[in-house]
Amino acid sequence: MNVAFKQSVGPPQSLDAIAEALLLPTGVDGVYARTALFEQAATGLTTLISRYREPDTEVLRLPPVMSRRQLQQSGYLESFPHLLGCVSCVAGDEAQIRASVARCQAGDDWTGALAVADLVLSPAACYPVYPLVSSRGQLPAAGLKFDVACDCFRREPSQLLDRLQSFRMREYVCVGTPEQVADFRARWMKRAAAIAGQLGLACRIEPASDPFFGRGGKLLAMSQIEQALKFELVVLLHSAGEPTACVSLNDHRDHFGAAWNLRTAAGAVAHSGCVAFGIDRLALALFASHGVELARWPTRVRQALRV
Ligand code: AMP
Ligand code: ZN
Repeated sequence: MNVAFKQSVGPPQSLDAIAEALLLPTGVDGVYARTALFEQAATGLTTLISRYREPDTEVLRLPPVMSRRQLQQSGYLESFPHLLGCVSCVAGDEAQIRASVARCQAGDDWTGALAVADLVLSPAACYPVYPLVSSRGQLPAAGLKFDVACDCFRREPSQLLDRLQSFRMREYVCVGTPEQVADFRARWMKRAAAIAGQLGLACRIEPASDPFFGRGGKLLAMSQIEQALKFELVVLLHSAGEPTACVSLNDHRDHFGAAWNLRTAAGAVAHSGCVAFGIDRLALALFASHGVELARWPTRVRQALRV
């Protein structure tokens, strides 16, 4: 699977050179205002990805925040505490809140008045799916499939345009037997490559691991690769250097099934898997590969995106 890049276009353009036409700074690393031009590509991508949706897939569009308790129950803090963003709000009675505002106006630190709320910023689109499935009882024999999307947050500030703190993720998710999940992922492996081909992106699919926290995390990452639990479709975005993961294909085994007591029709602990498309990275990949003038993109790419 670890093959050479399928080269279909010339060398990628410098991302910095095209940044001004695409992503404008907002004063925080990894958080950008997206231009109309960038959004044209992003909209084209979501439409293209929708055309690949399998029948019997439930569509849900999710908000950028989710229940903190649910994310805890899914085990996020054990694996990725360093990436989590928690919502906190100014707490207290009217007098206390006024005092906090006065401290802010005086140029003093007012953030001590913040109290953690029951919300976190969603770190991936699929997390709310598992508690939802759990609330519905045993799975049907065919399992369940979902099409989900949301704005995601991960605390990984960087000046690289392809490493954002706030970015959009589109996912297809399967919950069912181990075989159903394996088949689902195999189908999406082919489709992800087909989508990248339609987009004229020089890419390859390779084994990958998640950025687990700490020293113990390195072992988890190695075991993830050994068990072939994660693959990524990577694209050359920087003229030199590492390729960028634009799509991931994940087999969670029974991680969420055990955390949420999800049961197959036969009563076994359910497995799950997902394919996650990074919309902003894919859009960036298009501009890096084909330039900032949409009208000059290859005709077949524009047709695929309907732009
Ligand atoms: P993951 O859940 O880490 O496999 O992420 C799924 C997809 O989201 C990746 O393949 C990327 O396309 C996208 N993604 C993840 N992290 C970031 C980030 N920091 N900035 C932009 N896109 C990201
Ligand atoms: Zn997922």
